[in-house]
Amino acid sequence: MTARVLVVEDESDIRDLIRFAIEGDGHEVLDAETTLQAHQLLQMENVDVAIVDWMLPGGSGLELIRKLRREERTAALPILMLTARSEENDVAAGLDSGADDYLIKPFSPRELRARIRALLRRSRDFDRGEVRVVGPLTIDSAAHQITVDGKAVPLGHTEFRLISFLAQHPKRVYSRAQLLDHVWGPGALIEERTVDVHVLRIRKALKTANADSVLQTVRGAGYRLSDD
Ligand code: CA
Repeated sequence: MTARVLVVEDESDIRDLIRFAIEGDGHEVLDAETTLQAHQLLQMENVDVAIVDWMLPGGSGLELIRKLRREERTAALPILMLTARSEENDVAAGLDSGADDYLIKPFSPRELRARIRALLRRSRDFDRGEVRVVGPLTIDSAAHQITVDGKAVPLGHTEFRLISFLAQHPKRVYSRAQLLDHVWGPGALIEERTVDVHVLRIRKALKTANADSVLQTVRGAGYRLSDD
């Protein structure tokens, strides 16, 4: 169960520590040093969890979280707040602002990983555990897993998102630009051929399960998922 995690923290030592801890769990890490940077990034990129420090230049983490909760795109984003303070009032204020959980500095990498896992599990349970079947593929969004004949197909986080998105509308063709919008987020600074790279990886994984023909290239148009 891997995810894209945004880390909002101005101290590079702590940022590096967090990055190291959560990349070890296979997550992809994006980072921001200020609330403004974080806010701009969240307009463009899709992330699954945000880790927000309380003390940030140009506005507190608390203010950022309140703002994110008011905006549709990030209203339900799981947020872990970091705080150097341990007074009960501060923790309460953090949770009141809309953070889902908090961690007091200094914390251990193990503790951080456990909190991130718990947040992801909760938010994915929330996705109602939908299961879709397209041709030979069974796509389980709660388990974040694709199986063919009961065997799991090993896919990275982005590949899983890409194929899950295509599975929502089987047979419909999506252009590379549309896929970038839906899977990476509107305005993500990523080249269209990145989509091809991920499609290639998915095909390779599906090929070992003899199921690669379900992911089809439509010349001049894009990609689709279809059992035809
Ligand atoms: Ca800080």
